[in-house]
Amino acid sequence: MIIGVLVELSSKNIDKMFDYLVPLNLQDNIKIGIRVEVPFGSQTLEGFVLEIKDNSSSDFKLKEIISIKDTDIILNEELLELGKIMHNNTLATLISCYQVMLPKALKAKQGSIINKKFDTYYMVNESILSTMKVTPKQEEMINLCKKNKLVKRSELLEMSSSILSALVKKGILVEEKLEKYRLSYSKELGSKFQLTADQENVVEKVLENTRYKPYLLHGVTGSGKTEVYMELIEDALNKGKTSIMLVPEISLTPQMVERFQKRFGDNIAALHSALSDGEKYDEWRRIARGEASIVIGARSAIFAPLKNIGMIIIDEEHSDSYKQGDSNPRYSAKDIAMFRGEYHDCPVIFGSATPSLEVMARAQKGVYEYLSLPNRVNGKKLPLVRIIDMNEEIKKSKGHFSRNLITSINDKLEKDEQVILLLNRRGYASFVTCKNCGYTFKCPNCDISLTYHKSSNTMRCHYCGYGTKVYDTCPECHEKSISDLGVGTQKIEEELGEIFPNARILRMDFDTTSRKGAHEKMIKSFKNHEYDILLGTQIVAKGLDFSNVTLVGVINADTSLNIPDFRSSENTFSLLSQVAGRSGRSEKSGEVIIQTFNPDHYAISYTKMHDYMGFYNKEMEIRKTLKYPPFYYLCYIKISGKDMEYISKEADKIKRALVRNLLNTNILGPTPSTIFRVNNIYRFGIILKYKKEEKLKDVLNKILEHYKGNNKIRIDIDFNPSQIY
Ligand code: ADP
Ligand code: ZN
Repeated sequence: MIIGVLVELSSKNIDKMFDYLVPLNLQDNIKIGIRVEVPFGSQTLEGFVLEIKDNSSSDFKLKEIISIKDTDIILNEELLELGKIMHNNTLATLISCYQVMLPKALKAKQGSIINKKFDTYYMVNESILSTMKVTPKQEEMINLCKKNKLVKRSELLEMSSSILSALVKKGILVEEKLEKYRLSYSKELGSKFQLTADQENVVEKVLENTRYKPYLLHGVTGSGKTEVYMELIEDALNKGKTSIMLVPEISLTPQMVERFQKRFGDNIAALHSALSDGEKYDEWRRIARGEASIVIGARSAIFAPLKNIGMIIIDEEHSDSYKQGDSNPRYSAKDIAMFRGEYHDCPVIFGSATPSLEVMARAQKGVYEYLSLPNRVNGKKLPLVRIIDMNEEIKKSKGHFSRNLITSINDKLEKDEQVILLLNRRGYASFVTCKNCGYTFKCPNCDISLTYHKSSNTMRCHYCGYGTKVYDTCPECHEKSISDLGVGTQKIEEELGEIFPNARILRMDFDTTSRKGAHEKMIKSFKNHEYDILLGTQIVAKGLDFSNVTLVGVINADTSLNIPDFRSSENTFSLLSQVAGRSGRSEKSGEVIIQTFNPDHYAISYTKMHDYMGFYNKEMEIRKTLKYPPFYYLCYIKISGKDMEYISKEADKIKRALVRNLLNTNILGPTPSTIFRVNNIYRFGIILKYKKEEKLKDVLNKILEHYKGNNKIRIDIDFNPSQIY
């Protein structure tokens, strides 16, 4: 028996299948889609079995595989085919397309030295534990294992190998393979609403015919989209089918997950990014075994190994988190959703209050069926939005708060209602400068300003992690005039505290929510009215549902408008509309105050009018004139390397090759990327704009082929980039 094995050697960019012999004693257990361990030069590698055959066309003497890593298939037929399509569409290596589908514990490991063992996980055997005495040191390890349910062997070895072996010997810690761990959710009765007529209508339309079909569900904030999703998923469940629901960032949507858990109980697998590798692995296996029929998760959950899928839902489809843009394969979960929907012949629902232009354009053309929930569930109007022109206001107010916003906050506090304040940090850096000469501190490795961190009084580079203490004298003019210009949430919190000394303020940003579970706890306590004001960054705009919030204030609407990206207006409109949608979601009517230096910008005026279609039409005109999506496709080619001169020369060569070969494409660049240097790697970009270019992939593949194995230069290709960077 001969098998074709796909191995990963990313350093050499090798993406090739190699033939191996299978020893007799292993032949019975060989299946396509499992991992095997193979000798490769002086190393052993893991790879995926993609072929079983009788003959090999290889000229080399074939070696035997060393071992089999899986008893169950991890890449089933569907995923194997999907990988090939991704490989073809993204031009990333086939192996990277398979690797991205799998939890870390199931990825094929590369470059391990002979004899290195496969990861093992440990869990606590509670029944034995209660009968044994342990030392404090041992208890520490036990507690870690209890907390994380499953802990990697390597992690425990790092703590202490002797304690680990002692605990294993006593039987207190057992290898994960012996038993399975399961997250447990209990169902609650009465967690279901009588649908409104609009909701009913949407559900009926989708269920009329549950074959493959993409839909856009355009529902204003608070229109009850989630309830519709649950109804559709329940229908699939009743038919014995499974469902996937994607959300932009699952740890930021605990309220949504909770609603699902109440309704569906143990049938849910929630693929949190906060899960440990062991927990992710465990959830993955539960799904593969058919023990969970509903998967909720962020981007990569679209690869969940479900069988018999009956419903695929992408909530907040406008979110750029569905595109993997920073590493290969640069895929969109929305494309994968379409593939899987077609494969399983089931509906695919894209939901949003502010659909992306691409998706709305397809709905307008009838490529996707358009469904809408034009009103809020409670029949309440969308909140009244007021725009405050900060150009005038800034002269009259000392800090960052306009008089209008202060008055409104006061009013709500008096009525015992709650307030959400958004500090728009998108595209915003709180850099440190000298007030005397204007000197700005920059990262020595990257072309980017350092960001001030108050808690540690340091300046850090958000790209490479470089950090340094804050100086008080300027290295340029030697004056003591250093200040941090940035308005961070901490600063705003201080200002708020001075204006409203009696208000209870809760600050939510990536600093305060980084601890596991912190975010969820904050949401609970705000919901319980332990706080009056919730102040935060973008995370307060996402999917929160608090009935007592009647005022949303946007402190600075503009930063995200200034990002040099063709989507900056769209992203700003969407962010402002989403955060506005947090106000007045229940009985009490809500209002919204947006402070801006660009009161006449259309992204802001259409937000004020809650006029999505107005914004859409205006933005479509601009995109058409400037030849941007959805009228043209974009492809971004990133060329990077340490030797700036070399890279620059090669980028020019690539450009010339593209110009010679692509006759129907607009080719821009090469230009230095927005951030030219990161970690001392220089980056150039070439942008392609095209409507139809049949030779495109062939030409790009030739270029990739040409530079393969050249480690002075790296070429990354991003089709339909979510950002041009
Ligand atoms: P969206 O996701 O469209 O912003 P949600 O699904 O969060 O809206 O619904 C808004 C609020 O209305 C939630 O508190 C939800 O529980 C409630 N809700 C949804 N559907 C109904 C219904 N049919 N009857 C009563 N309340 C509902
Ligand atoms: Zn840096």
